[in-house]
Amino acid sequence: MFKKLLIANRGEIALRVIRTCREMGIKTIAVYSTADTESLHVKFADEAVCIGPPPSIDSYLNIPSVIAAAEITNADAIHPGYGFLSENSKFSKICAEHNIKFIGPSGDMIDKMGDKATAKTTMKKAGVPCVPGSAGLVDTLEIAIKEAKKIKYPVILKATAGGGGKGMRLAWSEDELEGAWDAARKEALAAFANNDMYLEKYIEEPRHIEIQIIGDMYGNVSHLSERDCSIQRRHQKLLEETPSPFMTKALRDKMGAAAVKAAEFIKYEGVGTVEFLVDKHKNFYFMEMNTRIQVEHPITEEVVNFDLIKEQIKVAAGEKVSGKHYFPEGHSIECRINAEDPSADFRPSPGTIVTLNKPGGLGVRIDSHIYNGYTIPPHYDSMIAKLITTARTREEAIAKMDRCLSEFVIEGIKTTIPFHKALINNEDFKAGNYTTKFMETFEYKG
Ligand code: ADP
Repeated sequence: MFKKLLIANRGEIALRVIRTCREMGIKTIAVYSTADTESLHVKFADEAVCIGPPPSIDSYLNIPSVIAAAEITNADAIHPGYGFLSENSKFSKICAEHNIKFIGPSGDMIDKMGDKATAKTTMKKAGVPCVPGSAGLVDTLEIAIKEAKKIKYPVILKATAGGGGKGMRLAWSEDELEGAWDAARKEALAAFANNDMYLEKYIEEPRHIEIQIIGDMYGNVSHLSERDCSIQRRHQKLLEETPSPFMTKALRDKMGAAAVKAAEFIKYEGVGTVEFLVDKHKNFYFMEMNTRIQVEHPITEEVVNFDLIKEQIKVAAGEKVSGKHYFPEGHSIECRINAEDPSADFRPSPGTIVTLNKPGGLGVRIDSHIYNGYTIPPHYDSMIAKLITTARTREEAIAKMDRCLSEFVIEGIKTTIPFHKALINNEDFKAGNYTTKFMETFEYKG
């Protein structure tokens, strides 16, 4: 097992990894930017190294600085968390060259799955159903128009390096596709330094349902059931739950088997998530695979009663996955609490927290790095807490969430707490009746 692990991340996920390492007897090293000197992950780690100024490009994304921090502290492993360098194949390769174990797949594996157009081609070969679309990349607008005719409108233009909904445009006609082309390419170039595009059939009113998987270096792969992430705003997840209200035993078995087949085909090692779109007829299509731990992993942990980060570290150290089957029990919901003003178009609201009261009680979990007096820096993601409630039934988990959102007091900044309160009290949400289109008609009155 590893002796010293460096966490190449910040915020709640850095803290989350530190907690598991403590329980496993692994020493931790935090890295931080000068904007994060007062962060809890810096205080809670055994050692901390400053790696640069506030902009992530100069700190959390600065590979030489992160590697140097690992070398001077004698780290034998690096956990990348999510975001930042977590799906950076170059970083994974450089870690390997420095004899530091990257907690995640090899650089080659990330290359295979990180590029979305290539991933789809690979999955087709594996026999996993994919969203119909262009054969690989579309290099020019002319080719895109030709391919769109074959796929039939509506189509969605996507950046192959995409993430967080960036570089993605919907087109209902050739005119719209022409209008979307330059904007999508520009956005992708700015966000990922890569403007390669591909096309997909636009699935109308789908659900976003993903399967958590874990694989070890001996070829064993297990799935840990699904998460429904259909509640999204501008392709960004706001709330996730498991089981999906749309799920049946038969569909779970089929989707689980497809996800396992996908991971086995590429000999996947580590934790990963296979994302699917599911249409109203319960047809499901592979969309992409995330080769890292995800923000919403706690809801899975709650229903399978299992520490996913611990398992991730164990398989990276060469252990076998614990069991072939994991049986989910109960219902778990996560609300992403962001420092944003929901009544002003979710505008970021950084600043200092002057009052903080966190909810508690049976079945309540908060993964968060905030504390009373903490100043949220403006440079990073606006998520400040994940509020997770777990109960025997969906109704109970919702009632518990409602109670917790009322108890959760954060003053000094605006948060999405009141938005979530309105959301979980919406009749369609309560009935489990929603798709990825939900937020387009949901009106938050503030
Ligand atoms: P990103 O990696 O940028 O988050 P994804 O490919 O995961 O992009 O897609 C994000 C969201 O966009 C999905 O959850 C879904 O709501 C929507 N979406 C993506 N592809 C399609 C499609 N072919 N048809 C309908 N909706 C889609």
